[in-house]
Amino acid sequence: MNKLKNLRNCRPNFKIGSKELGTGLFIIAGPCAVESREQIMESAKIISEAGADMLRGGAFKPRTSIHSFQGLGEKGLKFLKEAGLKYGLPVVSEITSAEQIKTAEKYLDAFQIGARNVQNYELLKAVGKSKKPVLFKNGLGTTTEEWLNAAEYIASGGNHKIILVQRGIRTFEDSTRFTLDISSVPVIKSRVNLPVFIDPSHAAGSSKLVPPLAIAGIAAGADGILVEVHPSPEKAMSDQKQQLNGREFTLLAEKLRKTHKFIEAYKLH
Ligand code: PEP
Ligand code: MN
Repeated sequence: MNKLKNLRNCRPNFKIGSKELGTGLFIIAGPCAVESREQIMESAKIISEAGADMLRGGAFKPRTSIHSFQGLGEKGLKFLKEAGLKYGLPVVSEITSAEQIKTAEKYLDAFQIGARNVQNYELLKAVGKSKKPVLFKNGLGTTTEEWLNAAEYIASGGNHKIILVQRGIRTFEDSTRFTLDISSVPVIKSRVNLPVFIDPSHAAGSSKLVPPLAIAGIAAGADGILVEVHPSPEKAMSDQKQQLNGREFTLLAEKLRKTHKFIEAYKLH
């Protein structure tokens, strides 16, 4: 039995907005959560000026504590879309249940499925029926094999526009929030022909560690990056410590483009 038969038929060269994946580095950036209209507008301005390809912002936030900010829901999606339209950026946001798809589809150019829902098979089957691309993160404790098998649920529904996003795994190491599993980039690429992105923000847990992890991800062969950027990280309502400010992101985007060009020029992959 070929357990990944539909995933193996997926191809990496689909479009998001006007840009085809695999044609140059793809940068997705934006705040952890959409907090207000002003905050997401300012974020979109910063990241578009720095040359990002897509805007992110959570509206349905899966928080460890029920007492933490849970996101603005549909209102957040509306603000996100408005910001994307104003700055010419496609937008992505996390959905946490199948019931959200119908509403979210109206606002989003892609869905994000987060670490906590990697094996929520009903949700995976439901996005499998959608035509929108899916940014699919690994779980805190999923092996690459389990992650790929989960992605096969999406592909089996007919949705072949899948981006696998490595966001770190839980190990005994506690000097970072999670351990970024860089090896998963070449491992996945040896198994399936799909775009692989790195999320350095959730792995690092601290903004100072984001640039080196991001550069390492691109050097390992990642096609793109998903990074958290906030106009005033110190005021963020979630993931405060790991979000880059505008200046830090602008600098990083430049370094990442250089790294990616170097890798391509010397055909290192
Ligand atoms: C996020 O991208 O904001 C997020 C919640 O990520 P993860 O699912 O990787 O924890
Ligand atoms: Mn976050």
